[in-house]
Amino acid sequence: MTSPSDRVRVLWSPVMLGYEFGHGHPMASDRLDLTIRLARSLGLLDAEGVRVAGAEPASDALIETVHEPAYVAAVRDAAERGTSYPERGLGTRDDPVFPHMHEAAARIVQGSVDSALAVARGEVEHAVNVTGGLHHAMPGAASGFCIYNDAAVAIRAALDAGVERVAYVDVDAHHGDGVQAVFWDEPRVLTVSLHESGHSLFPGSGYAHETGGPAAPGSAVNVALPSRTADAGWLRAFDAVVPAVVRAFEPQLLVTQHGCDSHVLDPLTHLRVSVDGQRVVAERLHELAHATTEGRWLALGGGGYAVIEVVPRAWAHLIGIAGHHPVDPGSSVPRDWLDHVEAVYGRAAPARMTDGTSASFKPWSTGYDPADDLDRTIRATRAAAFPLLGLDVELD
Ligand SMILES: [Zn+2]
Ligand SMILES: [Zn+2]
Repeated sequence: MTSPSDRVRVLWSPVMLGYEFGHGHPMASDRLDLTIRLARSLGLLDAEGVRVAGAEPASDALIETVHEPAYVAAVRDAAERGTSYPERGLGTRDDPVFPHMHEAAARIVQGSVDSALAVARGEVEHAVNVTGGLHHAMPGAASGFCIYNDAAVAIRAALDAGVERVAYVDVDAHHGDGVQAVFWDEPRVLTVSLHESGHSLFPGSGYAHETGGPAAPGSAVNVALPSRTADAGWLRAFDAVVPAVVRAFEPQLLVTQHGCDSHVLDPLTHLRVSVDGQRVVAERLHELAHATTEGRWLALGGGGYAVIEVVPRAWAHLIGIAGHHPVDPGSSVPRDWLDHVEAVYGRAAPARMTDGTSASFKPWSTGYDPADDLDRTIRATRAAAFPLLGLDVELD
């Protein structure tokens, strides 16, 4: 049971490891196992005010608030009979069919919905579901390792529970296309995505000119970063766009997606962010929740394919920040966790919770260079989205 005094609800149970595409697939469930092991080793799950809770699989009715019934039926059938539905993205290279695929994906959905409602109802201040953030799933198809879009179903559930405006901020290296598509014409939801440009990375969308449908102008904000953007540029872009648009939208709930595949060691993307940059953005989003939604914040996982080097540290920091027990970046990674990694994977893992970078950047307010690729990208986003949100392109 959660009580109102709980600071943070962490969604976890070992059964969540059932979302597993199989050997050799980048989305290895080991990344979740290693994250929770590290968080536990650091004492983050036993800290005061932290509640750990699992989830049952979501009902079809709940999933179908976002997904087409025929797609849900296809997911069930594919899982039960091993059949492929390539027209629905199932049985493809990115989304191979696996046993109990429906239940495993439905459980993640319920985990994010439970988390969102616990926050919306004030049962808990913040919630974290590192198993969620499956932002590419579309209403009628699987995409990019995502079967059901837990983020979209959770946002829909919050709206249905009476939340008037939800801001969704996605800092995964890939564009949050599924969430954007679901709420494209929904004025009660702002979707903001900071990602590597679609010119060089899946799914190929997420440009500045994508600003929402006719009934919801300004409800989508996209920053398409040049490939190889590192901490200084990534943080500068975040600072120049995200706080202003979220504040202008005046949300009652903040949902964030913390895919950590922006890291320089990630095998699937070309950004060059550090764990320190990712930690700073998590801190900034936490502060933004306290400044805009009275702290109502749901943080989700997402991509991240450097399973040993990056994901566990990035998301342990996230859990620590949400629990108001932030991990000192200079601290050592616990010995027992390092020993576990060595024993199971035969590899040495990073020994410290930092990458040793300063994660500093030049704020937009100090001026910009019209000839610089990154600054041109930021300018394009501000020019497209800011006026629609009542913001001044030059000043805010
Ligand atoms: Zn807080
Ligand atoms: Zn990603």
